[in-house]
Formats: sequence, C-alpha cells, structure tokens
Amino acid sequence: MKRITSLLFILIWFPVLSYAQGAGNLMQAVLDGINSATLSDAQVAAYSRQAVQQMDAKNPVAGPNDPYTQRLNRIVSRHRTMGGLPLNYKVYKIADVNAFATADGSVRVFKGLMDIMTDNELLAIMGHEIGHVINHDSRDAMKRALRRSAIRNVGASTSGLIGQLSRSQLGGLADYLAGASFSRQQETEADDYSYNFLKRNGYNVMALATSFEKLAKLSGGKQGGRITTFLSSHPDSRTRAERIRTRARRDGLAR
Ligand SMILES: [Zn+2]
Repeated sequence: MKRITSLLFILIWFPVLSYAQGAGNLMQAVLDGINSATLSDAQVAAYSRQAVQQMDAKNPVAGPNDPYTQRLNRIVSRHRTMGGLPLNYKVYKIADVNAFATADGSVRVFKGLMDIMTDNELLAIMGHEIGHVINHDSRDAMKRALRRSAIRNVGASTSGLIGQLSRSQLGGLADYLAGASFSRQQETEADDYSYNFLKRNGYNVMALATSFEKLAKLSGGKQGGRITTFLSSHPDSRTRAERIRTRARRDGLAR
C-alpha cells in the first residue's frame, strides 16, 4: 500500500516538476511574499519578469529573423524606450488577437493581432499596453494576483496538495498576464497615454481609433471561433474609438 502511494506520488509529481522547471524561483518568491506585509514594486517587477519568462517558454516565440519579429522591429525602430522603459517585446506565433504588457515593461504581441492591424495600429496598441505599465495598472493587478496565489498556495500546503496547486497557480499567473482586465477608468487613461505618445511623435493618432474599430468589428462578427482575449479584456471598443475620434477632431488631428 505504501509502495502504491509512493508510485502515485511520483506519477503525480513528475509532470508538476517538469512543468515547474525554471519556475522554482518564482514559487519561492511567491511563498516568501506572503510572509511580508507588502510586496515592493521591485519584487513585483521581478515576479512579472519570471512569469513572462514562463510564458515565453510555453509559447511559440518568433525568432530574430522571423518576418513578424522584423516587422515589429521596423515599427518600433524609432523608439528604444517608451515612457522611459526600455522596450522589451516579442511576438507569439499564435492566432489569438491579443497583446499584453507586464509590470516589468515586457510587451508580448500575438500573430493574430499583427495579421489584422496596420503598423501604426500596432504601435497604438503597444502604446496602450505600455500605458498600463506606466500608470502602474499592471503592477497593481500583478500584486493582487500574487497575493491571491500565495494565499491559495499556503492554504493548499496544509492539505498536502501543494504540488498540484502550484501547477494551477503557475498556470493562473501566466493566464492572468495574457488576459488581465482593468477598470474603465484605467482603460481610458491607457488610451490617453497612447494618444499622447502618437501625437508627440508625429504619428497619425487615428490609428488608435481604427484599431478599436477593427476590434469592435471582430467582436460583432463571426470569426470562426478565433479566441480574442484582448477583446474580452477590452470591452466597449466602439465607444472608445468614438472618444478618440472626438479628441482628434478637437486637436485638429482627425485625418
Ligand atoms: Zn487596456
């Protein structure tokens, strides 16, 4: 009986260990985090970096010579930094219409999004995502997710299920990164950040409006079951596009 239990233990743990390889530091950090009353911004950035590394390991990342990477390089070539953050971006070759940024300033853009957006629209969306980082939305959301995970994890460890729940916890953090949703106010402020970035650098600000209009069309039409995470975490695309258009008209920038 004991032997069977041990075998089961190994069978259950093996995939958990291979999944968590390279993520041990993150797990330890999360467990340490629960012991401290507050998570510092630097800690949150470090956890975010590790979580995004996990995402990179799990997803098909476009290589340096991939046409998608080269296109994104071209699009952001004028900008080493955005809002003082060194640009750190990669393309996931996944059909989802999605993009996200994490508290450490990492930006990940999905192939599905790149396929439907123009260069300027992609820059506008990256500006929006960086806006969430600059405005500390990403940091605050990551803090909440880390606390929740740590609490779940500690609860789990007392019942001896720490391995299994660690796996779901890791998955949860990674999923969170790709689908974090913010308040309407935070979205408006991230839109404004992007608008100001485009305006300051002489780009056509209408790209922000047209990117949202494309997203609105996607959410209205049938897309053959294509997963559109960005849409579900960014509702009201049409309203937001209209707001950008109004602002552009006021600024004499509606083209
Ligand atoms: Zn957003």
